[in-house]
Amino acid sequence: MAKRVCSFCGRSDKEVALLISGMSGFICNECAKAAYQIVTETIREKSAKSADTDFSMDGLPTPKDIKEYLDQYVIGQDDAKRYLAVSVYNHYKRLGQQKDDDGVEIEKSNIIMVGSTGTGKTLLARTIARLLKVPFTIVDATVFTEAGYVGEDVESILSRLLQVADYDVKAAERGIVFIDEIDKIARKSDNPSITRDVSGEGVQQGLLKLLEGSIVNVPPKGGRKHPDQDYTQVDTRNILFICGGAFDGIERKIAQRMNARVVGFESVQEVRKIDKNNLMKYILPQDLKSFGLIPEIIGRLPVLTYLNPLDRDALKRILTEPKNSLVKQQIKLFAMDGIELEFAPEVLDYIVDKAVEYKLGARGLRSIMETLMMQLQYEAPSAKRKKKKLVITKEYAQSQLENSYLQEAAEGA
Ligand code: ADP
Repeated sequence: MAKRVCSFCGRSDKEVALLISGMSGFICNECAKAAYQIVTETIREKSAKSADTDFSMDGLPTPKDIKEYLDQYVIGQDDAKRYLAVSVYNHYKRLGQQKDDDGVEIEKSNIIMVGSTGTGKTLLARTIARLLKVPFTIVDATVFTEAGYVGEDVESILSRLLQVADYDVKAAERGIVFIDEIDKIARKSDNPSITRDVSGEGVQQGLLKLLEGSIVNVPPKGGRKHPDQDYTQVDTRNILFICGGAFDGIERKIAQRMNARVVGFESVQEVRKIDKNNLMKYILPQDLKSFGLIPEIIGRLPVLTYLNPLDRDALKRILTEPKNSLVKQQIKLFAMDGIELEFAPEVLDYIVDKAVEYKLGARGLRSIMETLMMQLQYEAPSAKRKKKKLVITKEYAQSQLENSYLQEAAEGA
C-alpha cells in the first residue's frame, strides 16, 4: 500500500492533524487551507479586474425612462418618482465619471422618502430594483441595534449587499441599498440623550459611517463580529442609500413649524393656501430633526421627498391600473381555468369603500380581494357545467364580505 503522505508537502499522517484522501493521493489539512486561500484570492483578484473596467453609460435608462417604468406599477407619487429617477440616474453618472483633471467630482446624493405606511415606498424601491444594473437590497432599520447589543450591527447591511452581488466586492461597492423604516431609529426626543439610547442614536451613529462613505469591515455572511473572523473590506463611498419611513406624527411638527412661521411673518391669506390634508408635502429637513434624526444623518440624506396619502381615486386606480394590478391578477388566475372573469364597475367602488372603512389603505385591497374571491376560486374550476364567463356583481361581493372575518375584525376594532 502507498505510503500515506501529503501529495503537496510530503508530510506523513503522523506529522499533520488530518490527511484527506483523493483518487490517487492525499492532502493534509494545512495544504488544504493554503489551497483555499489561493483560490479565494485569485477569484477576488479576477472579479476586481473585471469590475475595474469603466462603468458604461450605454443603454442606461434616462430619468424619464425610469419614471415611465415606475408609472406602470406605482400609482401617483409623481414627486417621489421624479426624485428617485434623477437620483438613480445621477448614481450611474457618478459611477461612469472619468477621473478628469478639472477636480470636479460628482458627490452622491442619498435619498430619504417620507410617507404614511402603505403609500408605496417599498413598492417604489422594489420596482426600481428590477430596472437596475447594479446590486440592490432592501433592509429594515428596525433590526439594528448599537454594536454590542442584541440585534444586528448596521454593517450587516453591507453583508446583504455583498450577498446579492455574489461576494463581488467591487460590484457591491456601487450598489444601492434601500433602508426601510428609518424613522424607527429616531431618538426619543430632540435633545441629545444623556443615557444610552440603544435602539436610536447609537444606531444612527453607526449608520452615519456607512452613509458618509468609509471603508467598513464587514463580517462574512452577516454574522456578528467575532475576533477570528475574516472581514471583507467594503468602501461605501459609491453606494447609494435610499431611506424610507412613515414618520408617524411628523405632520404635527410640520404644522407647528408652519404655524410659527405664518404667525411671525406671513399674512393670513397665506395660511389658507396650505393643503391641510397633506402637510407632508411641506416637509423640510428640520422636521426630521424635530422627529429625532440627528443632524449629521439628515446632512447625509440631502434629497428629501414625500409620498401622498392615497385617496379613494388612487385606491381605485391601484385596483385596476398597475401592470400587475389585483384585478388583472384575478382575471389571469381564472383565465388559466378557461373562465372569463369580469368585475361589475360598482364592485370596484365597493372594494374601495371597504378598504377605507377598515382603515387598511392600499394594503387592505389585497385581503379584501382575496376574501371576495375565495369561494369562487374554490368552486369554479370543478363546477359540473363549467361556466365560461363569470361576472362579479356588487350583491355577490357584499354576500362574501359581510360575513367575513375582515368585517368582524373591523367591527370589533
Ligand atoms: P410602504 O409605503 O409602507 O412601504 P408598500 O409599498 O409596502 O407601502 O405598499 C403596500 C402595498 O400597497 C403594495 O404592495 C401595493 O400593492 C400597494 N400600494 C401602495 N401604494 C401604491 C401605489 N402608489 N401604487 C400601487 N400600489 C400601491
